[in-house]
Amino acid sequence: MLNKLKFLGNIYTYKLRSMLGLKRPNIMATINDYYRDDFQKLRKEDIAVILPHCLIDDKCPAKFSKSDGVLCSKCKLCGCGKVFESAEKKGYQFYITPSVGFTKRLVQRKNIKGVIGIACDYEIEKGIHSEKITDLGVRINGTRVKTQGIRLHVYDCIKNSVDWDKIEEIMRLSTGH
Ligand code: SF4
Repeated sequence: MLNKLKFLGNIYTYKLRSMLGLKRPNIMATINDYYRDDFQKLRKEDIAVILPHCLIDDKCPAKFSKSDGVLCSKCKLCGCGKVFESAEKKGYQFYITPSVGFTKRLVQRKNIKGVIGIACDYEIEKGIHSEKITDLGVRINGTRVKTQGIRLHVYDCIKNSVDWDKIEEIMRLSTGH
């Protein structure tokens, strides 16, 4: 109970500090820490690794599906293919999404309960303010999703990059079947 109140208090304080233009803590770490235990117990088939399309190579040969997003063919031009291979082997769902709106519909359509998600600071900040972050998960289109987020460490919308090993680490630490 105390943890829950502390968590919700941290989210509220973060939003308030944002509005007032004050220095803020690393809220993604707070959210990851709070959801981690429950996230790790989810069944792997209920968890999706969702990468933003800005990570794909300029010459990406993948086709696009209206229901599943970018259909990576694991061509090795970018790091997405390797993560796809690994996610598939371990039993996770895997998607490359063109937009936040698409991601939300995907979560609902595929009955996803946990997300390993990658985003830039701008999208994270937008999400913190627009989504309802509850103690049971982030509320997305009527479902509650436990998230484990990773920040893009380089991004200018053209040459973006993420800590690929961190995605592997989160996948590895999940204990659900
Ligand atoms: S690895 Fe996948 S996402 Fe990356 S360029 Fe190749 S097909 Fe596209």
